[in-house]
Amino acid sequence: MSFSAKHPKGLYLLFATEMWERFSYYGMRAIFILYMTQALLFNKELASEIYGSYTGLVYLTPLIGGYIADRYWGNRKSIVFGAVIMALGQFFMFLSACFHHQTGLAVPLMFLGLFTLIMGNGFFKPNISTMVGDLYEPADHRKDSAFTIFYMGVNVGSFIAPLWCGFVGDTGNPEDFKWGFLSACVGMILGTVLFCAFKNKYIVTPEGAPIGTVPAAKANAQQATTSAQQTGTGTQQVAAAPAKSGSSRKTVLGILSAVVLFLLFSINWNYLHDWSRIFEGADLIGTAIYAISIVVPVIIITDKSLTRIEQARIGVIYIIAFFVIFFWSAYEQAGASLTFFADEQTDRHLGSWEMPASYFQSFNPVMLVCLTPIFTALWGALDKRGLEPSSPVKQAIGLLLLAVGYVVIAFGVKDLDPNVKVSMLWLTSLYMLHTMGEICLSPIGLSMVNKLSPARFSSLMMGVWYMSTAAANKFAGMLSSYYPEEGVDKHLLGYHVADLFDFFMLFAIMSAVAAVILFCLTGILKKMMHGVE
Ligand code: GLN
Repeated sequence: MSFSAKHPKGLYLLFATEMWERFSYYGMRAIFILYMTQALLFNKELASEIYGSYTGLVYLTPLIGGYIADRYWGNRKSIVFGAVIMALGQFFMFLSACFHHQTGLAVPLMFLGLFTLIMGNGFFKPNISTMVGDLYEPADHRKDSAFTIFYMGVNVGSFIAPLWCGFVGDTGNPEDFKWGFLSACVGMILGTVLFCAFKNKYIVTPEGAPIGTVPAAKANAQQATTSAQQTGTGTQQVAAAPAKSGSSRKTVLGILSAVVLFLLFSINWNYLHDWSRIFEGADLIGTAIYAISIVVPVIIITDKSLTRIEQARIGVIYIIAFFVIFFWSAYEQAGASLTFFADEQTDRHLGSWEMPASYFQSFNPVMLVCLTPIFTALWGALDKRGLEPSSPVKQAIGLLLLAVGYVVIAFGVKDLDPNVKVSMLWLTSLYMLHTMGEICLSPIGLSMVNKLSPARFSSLMMGVWYMSTAAANKFAGMLSSYYPEEGVDKHLLGYHVADLFDFFMLFAIMSAVAAVILFCLTGILKKMMHGVE
């Protein structure tokens, strides 16, 4: 993989569009919880719950957007629809903040905004990622580097957004939040206009044919490719589109299974004897995400139109997406427990200036943009010697780097007096290692999903990939509640979290175990990939 390979111009259009969309997403996210607590005067618990549900649901709806794109709309229409809807969502957030004194108006407007953003993201995110891969022929070796460049766009947006939206919106005066949301809205409009203006010119195949328009055309292209791959192998025939026969029966069965799982996960087992309290304390959105994360993959992989090879490749995506849940749930502590740690136990003085704890949020995107070229050069150099690791090995390395990050910080806080603050270097090292892990895991994961998915399911599979982030965000919130507190005894599956060392080691152990198991599976996974690198 190398950056020096020439890429189609369409990649840079998708880079810029995604950069503005992520600016909008992360800009709003940076001030959202503060808006709820400081302007709407919600308590921290309620605000955190709404925040967690939002960040979970935003990654669940790509399943819907991916499905509709593959089956009916194509990627282009879905992206434009999602982008317009998201701009509208940010505008509702702006309106909510304009009327924040009138909670009777501001709160419904905020929920309308959140709902719109969740739906819009579902149409935008899986489809823009799929389009990156579709700019290339299925076996093009430039795909990994294309996704890595695209991922830098994600991070340029994520870096500028909290700084700008925080600067204009988080001033200490609740009247100003609206400017942060308005900036997010303008960013989204810029991305939309850019995409609409240049898509016909640049989002095309090398021959100039438009990409991402009619799903049927994609299915036929895939049929031709897969049939060619299968010539002489004697495996079963490829169907041109997902089987329709029996699909409504399957949908009903799927919905029923999801409901049953949802109820099972929501039951409070302590109150089995008292039906009126049987769902007491249930996290309804979390359980819905977990139930859907189990049922939808089963429905997809049992689709009758899939060949054995396609099923095996989809199986690889599932296995890796499962391990990736452990990555994101440990990584996403950045916005939760690691921010408490930055706030309470880290000496943030640089000379006489004390850096705000929230600034640590920008470390990751900056480091990502700086370190990516180094990794790309490394993969390129290894490739020349025939030593470039396969995608599953890179994912396992990513998990391992995450574990090392937690080991470093765990030893930084070992036997630390709760009143003592540690150097910023500990958190900085952790973020550096986590960012290196992310570079190995995230863009390569997107590329892998694109390469392994049957074209007629490619956006839906991207939705499945993002679904693992939805489950991870929910899981992250649960794990963050084990952050040690004076006088509270916390246990997780027999593991006693007595202090910060134990807390950080919990993530180190979890990601190291996941990394080792994934390393052990890489041989089988490579076979299941049937020649896709
Ligand atoms: N930072 C990435 C983004 O915003 C993370 C996505 C993910 O899969 N968790 O696109």
